[in-house]
Amino acid sequence: MKAIRGATTVAADNEESIKFAVKELLDEIFSVNKLRTDEVVCIMLSNTADIKSMYPAKAAREGGYALFPLYSSLEPPIDGSLALCIRVMVLCDRNKSVRHIYLRGAQNLRKDISKVLNIAIDGPAGSGKSTISRILAARLGILYLDTGAMYRAIALKCIRENADYADKDTVKKIVDNLDLKVDYSEGMQITLLDGEDVSEQIRTPQVSLLASYVSAYGFVRNKMVELQREIAAKRSCVLDGRDIGTNVLPDCEFKFFLTADAAVRAKRRHLENISKGVEQSYEEVLKDLEERDFHDKNRAIAPLKQAADAVVVDTSEMSIDEVASYILSKIEEKI
Ligand code: C5P
Repeated sequence: MKAIRGATTVAADNEESIKFAVKELLDEIFSVNKLRTDEVVCIMLSNTADIKSMYPAKAAREGGYALFPLYSSLEPPIDGSLALCIRVMVLCDRNKSVRHIYLRGAQNLRKDISKVLNIAIDGPAGSGKSTISRILAARLGILYLDTGAMYRAIALKCIRENADYADKDTVKKIVDNLDLKVDYSEGMQITLLDGEDVSEQIRTPQVSLLASYVSAYGFVRNKMVELQREIAAKRSCVLDGRDIGTNVLPDCEFKFFLTADAAVRAKRRHLENISKGVEQSYEEVLKDLEERDFHDKNRAIAPLKQAADAVVVDTSEMSIDEVASYILSKIEEKI
């Protein structure tokens, strides 16, 4: 028997917020732990006294957890305790280790037992990183952080300002005044540059090449890596990039390095471009990709390199499903 702990905070004391918070917490506990219905013995919830509008057990029942024995209790009022907090304990019949989940305002409550799950997926362009990362994040019920999008946003800003990317001081000025945010909507990453959603605009071949140039500057990397570490420390996520396992999260428990022949990668990218209406011949795609590989592998700071402890997956002759299943099986061996 195992006990999974969790807690979250509610935006306001009303039925809608309580239902949302309880469902979000239980959904995350079930998906991250891959809990099967028949493993669950009971779900016990408690709430702080400032929550008066609805029993968390009722919220759980209405949120799709009606199958399980549910129990709610009121916590004693303790000075200084977290406001509008709901705690949960899920008892389950299993031997595999479990992950405790703390969300929203409760994230820092039990740093000693709650472990965020970070998965590093590195590799060159066209190796399948983003497709695989998106699938893994969806299957595990966690976020997908596309770190390349951040470097792409800087490249887009340089293009918009007609800046000379080879001039370090010019790029530094842009980076120092950068308004870049990463947000999420229905599990999809939105890249916001100066408050504008540029998720589509950063996907052009011109931006791809320029991103590879600007990402070689140390001040660019420092700023992006800091942002990436901040996000990864708070939330379970799959991060894809070039230096996640070697530099951003060197202590990450799950590291994968995807590779594939350059010709296969160029073919994939070419097909992707066609589907997006981007006009570029296969030969041009291959040339751009090789140029980008060269820059990414040979830059002085945090070059594209597999971490010594990463699992290498050559995706040249594997389908997307095969790669995703293989990586998931490796992750499940450990959790
Ligand atoms: O992965 P994506 O093709 O979107 O990345 C665009 C460029 O950003 C890469 O060619 C690389 O130069 C840079 N990058 C990086 N480190 C990362 C992610 C991307 O240097 N972690």
